[in-house]
Amino acid sequence: MTTPYARELEIAQLAVQRAAILTKRVFHEKAKGTVSKDDASPVTVGDFGAQALIIAALRHNFPGDAIVAEEESAQLRADEGLRELIWGLVRGTKLEDPEAEGLLGGGVRDVDDLLEVVDLGRSAGGREGRVWTLDPIDGTKGFLRGGQYALALALLEDGEVKVGVLGCPNLPVDDAAPLTVDIGANQSDDEGRGVIFSAVIGQGATSRPLSTGGLTEGKSIKMKEVTEMASASFCESVEAGHSNQSESAQIAQKLGITKPSVRMDSQAKYGSIARGAGDIYLRLPTSKTYQEKIWDHAGGDLIVREAGGQVTDTKGRRLDFGVGRTLASNSGVIAAPAAVHNQVLDVVQEVLGLK
Ligand code: AMP
Ligand code: MG
Repeated sequence: MTTPYARELEIAQLAVQRAAILTKRVFHEKAKGTVSKDDASPVTVGDFGAQALIIAALRHNFPGDAIVAEEESAQLRADEGLRELIWGLVRGTKLEDPEAEGLLGGGVRDVDDLLEVVDLGRSAGGREGRVWTLDPIDGTKGFLRGGQYALALALLEDGEVKVGVLGCPNLPVDDAAPLTVDIGANQSDDEGRGVIFSAVIGQGATSRPLSTGGLTEGKSIKMKEVTEMASASFCESVEAGHSNQSESAQIAQKLGITKPSVRMDSQAKYGSIARGAGDIYLRLPTSKTYQEKIWDHAGGDLIVREAGGQVTDTKGRRLDFGVGRTLASNSGVIAAPAAVHNQVLDVVQEVLGLK
């Protein structure tokens, strides 16, 4: 008997790895200012390119599956120059290992197909059947500021996350590398950087160096045990508009945490706590109306839970990925080692006035 979801896991990781070749290229050319044409932001180019490459791999391997992805083709349809620029990048991006590249299938066929492939990501999601969630560049602000970003892909089945993959080109490969407060800016994807986190439900979580060919060997990852809150480190968004930083500071203080929070963009936060580089990830709502997007959390949620963590919203409910393209029935995120999650939740609720 083969392991459940083995093929989905392999294809998802290879697809992310191939798309990361494109985003890394754009990331570097951005620095030189060569990739953006006229008003096209490097984020736009990288986003569409990575989405097209990943969806093309899913279409080939799992043609019946639905896909909920962040981008849609309207902007590409309206702008021929942008379309051609992205098509050129997509066409030129291949895994160096022909066998691995072969597994991903024919790729994007031509410019028209590029538009079609991008729009395959318009599913409404929901509680039934197989649905992939994709954020081709999660943490676009991090991508632009040269901090952290992630290529985020997950498979839901009947509303539950079964497979999660996060490609983080700018995180250290070394799971034991301590989180430093400068991780959120002035980073690179040089030697020693680039990691893929993955998890399958019931099978644990793994990290492996990101490569430009086939999959490298993986190592099992676990959250760190928090024996003393005082020395715990917690992670949050760089963007104050994405998570309330003054409330998180009060929460940290009440918990007795003495270190400053580590701020970084994207689901690199989930990956970092899952491998024990950080301990707690808080995302506290800044508005009553914003609904979190499922592609911003599905992969990270499973990776943290499979590494020994618990992930809930600020009301203590598990994240519900089965209600559509957003987490409409949740509010914020608290991710922490299972043993201390309740303690953190308690303080969050106290500070937010939820009890
Ligand atoms: P992060 O890098 O963790 O700050 O999260 C990046 C994600 O935040 C983006 O992919 C957006 O979908 C999402 N986002 C945008 N506006 C908000 C908001 N007001 N509150 C929370 N998340 C948001
Ligand atoms: Mg995102």
